[in-house]
Amino acid sequence: MEKRFNKMKQVYLESYGCQMNLADSELVMGVLAKAGYFPSDSPQSADVILVNTCAVREHAEEKVLGRIAELNRFKLKKPELVLGVLGCMAKHLGKVIAERAPYVDLVVSPDGYRRLPELIGQSGDKPYLDLRLDRTELYEEIDPVRKEGVNAWVTIMRGCDKFCTFCIVPYVRGRERCVPPDEILRQVRNLAEEGYKEVTFLGQTVNAYRYNGTDFADLLHLVSGVEGIERIRFTSPHPSDFSEKDIETIANLKKVCNHLHLPVQSGSDKVLKRMRRTYTSGEYLDLVGLIRDKIPDVGLTTDIIVGFCGETEEDFQATLALVRKVRYDSAFMFKYSPRSQTVAYRKFEDDVPEKEKGRRLEELIHIQESISREVNQTWIGKRVEVLVEGESKKDMSQFYGKTDNFKTVVFPRNGEKPGDLVEVEVVNSTSHTLLGRRV
Ligand code: SF4
Repeated sequence: MEKRFNKMKQVYLESYGCQMNLADSELVMGVLAKAGYFPSDSPQSADVILVNTCAVREHAEEKVLGRIAELNRFKLKKPELVLGVLGCMAKHLGKVIAERAPYVDLVVSPDGYRRLPELIGQSGDKPYLDLRLDRTELYEEIDPVRKEGVNAWVTIMRGCDKFCTFCIVPYVRGRERCVPPDEILRQVRNLAEEGYKEVTFLGQTVNAYRYNGTDFADLLHLVSGVEGIERIRFTSPHPSDFSEKDIETIANLKKVCNHLHLPVQSGSDKVLKRMRRTYTSGEYLDLVGLIRDKIPDVGLTTDIIVGFCGETEEDFQATLALVRKVRYDSAFMFKYSPRSQTVAYRKFEDDVPEKEKGRRLEELIHIQESISREVNQTWIGKRVEVLVEGESKKDMSQFYGKTDNFKTVVFPRNGEKPGDLVEVEVVNSTSHTLLGRRV
């Protein structure tokens, strides 16, 4: 490889996918900032264009391939521009990207970002592929370049050991490893100094956090002591990893928000077993019961997949029954789509017709939407504490923010500013939002 582009400094980074991936984009900008690069708002003015991709859903992959082709037009105008593909899809489809988009310069998996400055500075005729997974990479001592605001993400663990049969994450992000508590504390203290009020811990199975003698509950205690941080959130826990100690800790520590995103995926034991989710619907419901008992006003959200391999109408009805029983505040609901490499792709038949998956998804969404609407109506007349996040996108005269249990509240501005904790009375609601007025 020969060296090129010594003066190249502006980076345009486009991101897709989940919060983990968006947090990785902040990390990438941290790595590049350390090497003297700075962010660009547009691909036109950039010397480096990076696309941080997601591999969780098939249509996301197609979308990204289309977007890379579009971005190539900047490279056609400016041949020295470096175009790179990062993230889960880079790991998943590295060679396919190199074949379908040979004009791409770099394809780098989530454990290769430390080397980005070096890789950007090198060139070859073919795309350079760095697809290794590294069981030790935790990106310690790298400060992500975060978006301005009230909330900051802090990645506390990387990878996943669960190997749910439908999921590609363990193959593209590698095995589970945890960031040392001292490094997490260092980052959170810095964030408090920078004026952030809320931190969200990120991990694929965030409550599986373990580092030497420190478990997830211990970590919550430690970070709760950081002055200036008013709220602590985390996502996503795995239902099987919750201990009573975790739940007691969430219930007792004021700064730890009363919101749990608790992915259930299915209400059928047969399907849960085939998904290798490691709990039954009964165990899941017991956990929900325990959580509601200890944290009465908890906000509960979830992820559900419909149409997984072998899912019958009866299995689907079990999911609907569970949804009606739990009465989630909201849910992310998807149709199953097979991902190569996974156990489900290799061993099970994707046998629920697409049309039927669509029908099931529609029915589920319809039921969940009406539950969300009803749950939100129960908040009318109550007073809630809201952390102000900013101006409402629809109406500049309104602010929006979140309650402790993750409800979005919109209310008329009245002298407050983002980062303030204010009391609001809920006067109306929709299925997604509470509408209020300052008290
Ligand atoms: S717990 Fe399962 S669904 Fe979640 S990231 Fe790990 S393998 Fe994927």
